[in-house]
Amino acid sequence: MFKTKFLLFVPFILMACKSSSNFTGFSYDPPGVTNTVGKTTEPQNRRVIGAGTPKIWISNEFGGARASDFYQIDANTFEILIRPENAPINNSPWFAFKIWSDSSHAVNLRLSYKSGKHRYLPKISGTQGSIIYSHVIQDAEYDTATGSTSFSLHVDQQPKTVSAHFLEGIRYSDLVAKAKRTQKPFVTIDTVGYTHENRPVFEFTANETDAPKAGVLVLLSRQHPPEVSGYRTYQAFWNELISDSELARRFRSHFIIKAYPMVNPDGVANGHWRHNVRGVDLNRDWENFNQPETQAIRDALLSLKEDASKKVLYGIDFHSTNENIFYPINEEIETKPDNLTQRWSVFIKEDNPDLNFRNEEFDTSSPISKNWIYKTFGSDAVTFEVDDELDEFETRELGANAARSLMKLLIEEWQRMETEE
Ligand SMILES: [Zn+2]
Repeated sequence: MFKTKFLLFVPFILMACKSSSNFTGFSYDPPGVTNTVGKTTEPQNRRVIGAGTPKIWISNEFGGARASDFYQIDANTFEILIRPENAPINNSPWFAFKIWSDSSHAVNLRLSYKSGKHRYLPKISGTQGSIIYSHVIQDAEYDTATGSTSFSLHVDQQPKTVSAHFLEGIRYSDLVAKAKRTQKPFVTIDTVGYTHENRPVFEFTANETDAPKAGVLVLLSRQHPPEVSGYRTYQAFWNELISDSELARRFRSHFIIKAYPMVNPDGVANGHWRHNVRGVDLNRDWENFNQPETQAIRDALLSLKEDASKKVLYGIDFHSTNENIFYPINEEIETKPDNLTQRWSVFIKEDNPDLNFRNEEFDTSSPISKNWIYKTFGSDAVTFEVDDELDEFETRELGANAARSLMKLLIEEWQRMETEE
């Protein structure tokens, strides 16, 4: 009798597993994205390259830089070739280089991408004497046939930085500096693992609760290096959570925050379009865990599962795309708490009417971090996508008000769960 039941049960388990193992990638993914075994990547040649007369110089000799080649097209037109770390790859051509000239004049620059088409508006920054300046090139000319983009720029002996996003505060070195600075007394910073290039994977923990049981909020960012607006939103979000406001203090009396601000530090330092240095999209590795970055964070979080005094309630993974959008877990799938993202998004839309936030629900079959959090802890989780071109002020406002509405919601949820128990 028992045997028959057992045999009937086996095919059901196989079928249940099948839907997730069949996941081959989202519509925007290249083929083979779920094979997260390491591949060969092409390191960029770090150097200073000169072209033309008088000479124009570019350099990719700094953290976060990406420029593969540089050459003259005609008297006053120069092309910068941008190649990804490996291909095929999702379309997110990151570029960052310094440019200067022996003489002062205007030149036409063309950004030409291999294995991708233009996505990010060029940003110019630098210093002139004691003045720091920065601006976005709004009128770059995009060529649909080649996928390249052109704009004119005044060059002189003082180097200017041309980049897909302003680099200030978002480089790997900025995070290392932040990790070394004294934080609030309740914040600890740990290294939970190391990347292929031996960079630490940082974990920031905010913990000042003395309650016998605490909720846990998990935050992830920068799995995809160029997704800077998502990272800036995360930074503002974190700052609000650890602030001295009455709400934040009340929140921290019930909740511990576990944050992994830069899941892909090698990718950020090397100016990658999307992958780690083994050519893998880390946000497709949350089932097979072939890469050290995902392994490190998984292992750090798994310890919470065994700890009866802590309960993971929610996970947020910050990204960027061409719009402001939440990817919640399907309403039909029961999470604990249930439909938190759907309830939270009402406040996000109310508080940010100009940002046109929308929701697009997904099932939990893909091997991404949000689904791993749900499958491991039973909690709700969301992929929080921020428009690529939201600026620093917009992301700061969004991150701060999103943190406030979530704290209120989670405190209510926690109190409701406590009275139910
Ligand atoms: Zn992303």
